[in-house]
Amino acid sequence: RSHNLFAALRAAFPSDLDLVAVETTAPDGTALNYTWRDLDHASARMANLLASLALPEGSRVAVQVEKSVEAMVLYLATLRAGCVFLPLNTAYQSSEIEYFIGNAEPAVVVCTPGNFGWVSKIAFTAGTQQVFTLGDDRTGSLLERAAHHADQHQPVARTADDLAAILYTSGTTGRSKGAMLTHGNLLSNAVMLKDYWGWVPGDVLIHALPIFHVHGLFVAIHAALLNGSKMIWLAKFEPKAAISAMARATVFMGVPTLYVRMLAEPGLTREAVQNMRLFISGSAPLLIETFTAWQQRTGHTILERYGMSETIMLTSNPYAADARYGGQDERRGATVGFALPGVGLRVVNDANQPLPVGEIGNIQVQGPNVFKGYWRMPEKTAEEFTPDGWFKTGDVGLVDARGYVSIVGRSKDLIISGGYNVYPAEVEAAINELPGVAESAVVGVPHPDFGEVGVAVLVARPGAQPDAEAIVAQLKIQLANFKIPKRCFVVAELPRNTMGKVQKNLLRAQYQSLFA
Ligand code: ATP
Ligand code: MG
Repeated sequence: RSHNLFAALRAAFPSDLDLVAVETTAPDGTALNYTWRDLDHASARMANLLASLALPEGSRVAVQVEKSVEAMVLYLATLRAGCVFLPLNTAYQSSEIEYFIGNAEPAVVVCTPGNFGWVSKIAFTAGTQQVFTLGDDRTGSLLERAAHHADQHQPVARTADDLAAILYTSGTTGRSKGAMLTHGNLLSNAVMLKDYWGWVPGDVLIHALPIFHVHGLFVAIHAALLNGSKMIWLAKFEPKAAISAMARATVFMGVPTLYVRMLAEPGLTREAVQNMRLFISGSAPLLIETFTAWQQRTGHTILERYGMSETIMLTSNPYAADARYGGQDERRGATVGFALPGVGLRVVNDANQPLPVGEIGNIQVQGPNVFKGYWRMPEKTAEEFTPDGWFKTGDVGLVDARGYVSIVGRSKDLIISGGYNVYPAEVEAAINELPGVAESAVVGVPHPDFGEVGVAVLVARPGAQPDAEAIVAQLKIQLANFKIPKRCFVVAELPRNTMGKVQKNLLRAQYQSLFA
């Protein structure tokens, strides 16, 4: 039996292939619909094109293109043809692309028409066999060449253990690593999530995320396809467009910044969301302020979940009250919910020994969703697994008596000040509560006496002018002295990457010599 992920997704298409699968707007503003038959035929043509190239087994197809429905079809075609999909962040520039293509050695590269010159030079130097172009307006050589191929294609047989994709991590803590994910990893997680989040016939997803990352590519697309659900496809997130799509949709998935931006729109009202069933947030911590503001404005409780490129989804707040926990569970702000079915999750000390309930430590996981290792980094892979097979997430957190997981930061962001552990999330939460503060980041910098001390960087609410010294004085009343940031800066905005994650490494570098 084949375990090709595409075959499983295809099997879930509705029997009426003339129904609309994706509704979108072309770059020139015209409305565009794709039926299920369109997705099937277009992916077959592209899969046949890939097959005609007689690529070696395990070939990577590296893709750096603007978001479009055709780009999603290319993902499906790559699975269908049995190749390995390797999406690249559209923000990457030539030196970054040189690293990724040199590292991944893809057999095929697909880039935007405007980048063909420099991308093809890099690709051919790295031994790439074929470079295609794909624009977000259905232009480019990929579609021209695919048009000459048949619209029928039998998915190539794959085992559950065969690679389906290599996803480079977001590079929040350092250089991105290629996480190798199998057909089995992706399918098992998708099937479980469809059930856990209560997908029902008739659900419609607003797809507003980039598709080079685990959230938009796997969590969002797999769920909609497996449920035979229509997607309202937004090539770029625009808060007004997202809100107006809600009248025709039921599910929205976003990173926290998308929720913050929608809350800034007066058009976000109870009426605007009355057709919606579920709002999901992840990829970065959702501030409790955002969680509460969303509840007050819309009457909906955002469901926060936690995952990573290496493992897809790990935990989730409950969709409905969960009988396992006495049927009383709710979606709790500032937590990422329960370990998902099939996922083993434990909190350990630095010697990999499990800690008692409620204690803060390193989060480690196991399960059918956990990746095969980092592409061409066997030592790094070995380091990140314990001898008994648990994957070290690099996140620090705790599990309470009910099973709710809370994340307090990343181990690389922990501050050790005078021998005491300071968890940035705790200090940030206290700062965010103070008047005039919109959000904050606390990072550790070297200090001659304490080894390391915290520095707070905060963004003011519109119109407010919080005083840095007053903030520090106020914190001293609330927190133990070792947790108090030694300095506080008010800035216009925090540095974030495209997934909305705060880049603490940049802040650390900026304030590195403050006490030197
Ligand atoms: P790199 O590994 O290259 O430093 P990254 O870890 O940001 O980058 P991703 O795999 O995209 O790359 O992100 C996974 C990380 O995102 C998790 O390890 C966790 O730190 C964070 N994360 C995801 N969801 C949540 C959440 N709901 N709350 C807090 N953190 C989250
Ligand atoms: Mg990571």
